[in-house]
Amino acid sequence: MLTFTTKEALKNHLKPLQQRGNKIGFVPTMGALHVGHISLVERSIAENSLTVVSIFVNPTQFNNAEDLENYPRTMKQDKELLGKTSNKIIVFCPTPNNLYNNNITSLHFDFGAIESVMEGKYRPGHFNGVGTVLTHLFNAVNPNKAYFGEKDYQQLQVVKKLIEINKSAINIVGCDIYREPNGLAYSSRNKRLTKSTKKQAAVIYKTLNKTKEMFGTNSAIQIKDFVASVFKNEANFELEYFEIADSLTLDSTQPIDHSKKYRAFIAVFAPDNVRLIDNIALN
Ligand code: AMP
Repeated sequence: MLTFTTKEALKNHLKPLQQRGNKIGFVPTMGALHVGHISLVERSIAENSLTVVSIFVNPTQFNNAEDLENYPRTMKQDKELLGKTSNKIIVFCPTPNNLYNNNITSLHFDFGAIESVMEGKYRPGHFNGVGTVLTHLFNAVNPNKAYFGEKDYQQLQVVKKLIEINKSAINIVGCDIYREPNGLAYSSRNKRLTKSTKKQAAVIYKTLNKTKEMFGTNSAIQIKDFVASVFKNEANFELEYFEIADSLTLDSTQPIDHSKKYRAFIAVFAPDNVRLIDNIALN
């Protein structure tokens, strides 16, 4: 398995391969890899002649310094896991200065209404950071396809918008959410949960499933009240937001129009300020 730590070396390696017609699949990650990440990697391997996986904890997308500092970093295990998946994967793990040309700041994008709700509202500047790092990463890798999980559904919509803004030809592929046996969505942040809080965190997906059941016969307000009441009784979990929003526009204006597709979105704080997000298709 080849590893590159500078974009110049990566480009030098990839360019002749691209000129010979190899199709490149790209999976951007922040490391602390788990089954969810590997599902994206396997899909890329199946659909492309080469797969690049980046491991880069992006400083500009964290609005909270403590969250950035505590983000799990497990480079050695990550490389082992990728090596076991396929020895043909190309790993790209640049330093922030290399990727950002010594200027670690966010560019400003106009993603429209989708950037000011949910993750955009509660993590100011987050999506500009995501757009910036992906602009640099896409430049370095120049992939044909890039793979993103629906686990970060709002991010997936932002990335599609970024492709439009940057007039890029990259094909963005959205991938299913992978879950632990108890339903908790795999997340790098789960590594910071104790065994017992991980077990209790099953309440997140269980509640999302219940909202899906309620969707046909209850108003959005009734469903929101239900979710608020569940988390009022969960001593270890604090609800940050729960929203029912249009799957395409992420508009949460009520009442629900049943001719449109909706999703439910949730963000919850577990002990030690571990922030967990999840979502589900409602119809
Ligand atoms: P991250 O390392 O958290 O930035 O995630 C890298 C990519 O993996 C993103 O596109 C995520 O949406 C995706 N991802 C993270 N967790 C999961 C999961 N449980 N199932 C599917 N994809 C995931």
